[in-house]
Amino acid sequence: MKINPLYAPAFITSLIIVAGCSQTSTEVIVDPFESPLEALEEGNERFRRGSRSYPHLDAARRHDTAIHGQHPFAAVVACSDSRVPVEELLGAGIGDIFVIRVAGNVCMTDETGSVDYAVAHLHVPLVVVLGHTGCGAVTAAVKHSPEHGSLTRLLAHIDEPVQEVRRKHPDLNGDALLNAAIEANVWRSIEDLITHSNSVRGAICDNQTRIEGAIYDLDTGEVRWLGPHPKQADLMVASSDDGFE
Ligand SMILES: [Zn+2]
Repeated sequence: MKINPLYAPAFITSLIIVAGCSQTSTEVIVDPFESPLEALEEGNERFRRGSRSYPHLDAARRHDTAIHGQHPFAAVVACSDSRVPVEELLGAGIGDIFVIRVAGNVCMTDETGSVDYAVAHLHVPLVVVLGHTGCGAVTAAVKHSPEHGSLTRLLAHIDEPVQEVRRKHPDLNGDALLNAAIEANVWRSIEDLITHSNSVRGAICDNQTRIEGAIYDLDTGEVRWLGPHPKQADLMVASSDDGFE
């Protein structure tokens, strides 16, 4: 197994902590720059087990990133919901993941610009759009809850994938409808990123990054990994303009 020098201290720390607790199995952290998705999967597995062997949270890591800058191995677009502790549930520490949080994990102008920065300037090899079960923003869109001001615009954005689910699956209702809408909303955010960002499309074309969907279960702590957008190839061809109307 190859260990990236940037991550080696965390790898070593993890082995020491694991050796000092009650767990008997040897814990192995993959190289996140070589296998970013596998690193997040492994981090989520540690979180679900209740492991406290989080890497990269000590004074040395703070000092190192303050002096040498950040080199995150993934960007994550997630919901602002207080029950979704993004770094913790992915087993990430300081400087590991570039997180964009917004209600309903939408990708409108500012969120897409933030992902642009992570892809074009920080060169993250992976972008994840992370939805979650029981999302209040998606629930509000499904229920057409009356809102005011800026929240109205945000919910209108989420309403589009909700309506698409209603058209394709008129038989769904209750939790089944909500869960389908949450997944559709993840795909919509990925679609927005690909459609509205030249940087993202270029990085995908050059195999410099990839975009994957995922859904976090509030109760079990498990992340369900959805993979890339099923119509990514079509979106790449159809997209040509930067920015939102
Ligand atoms: Zn939410």
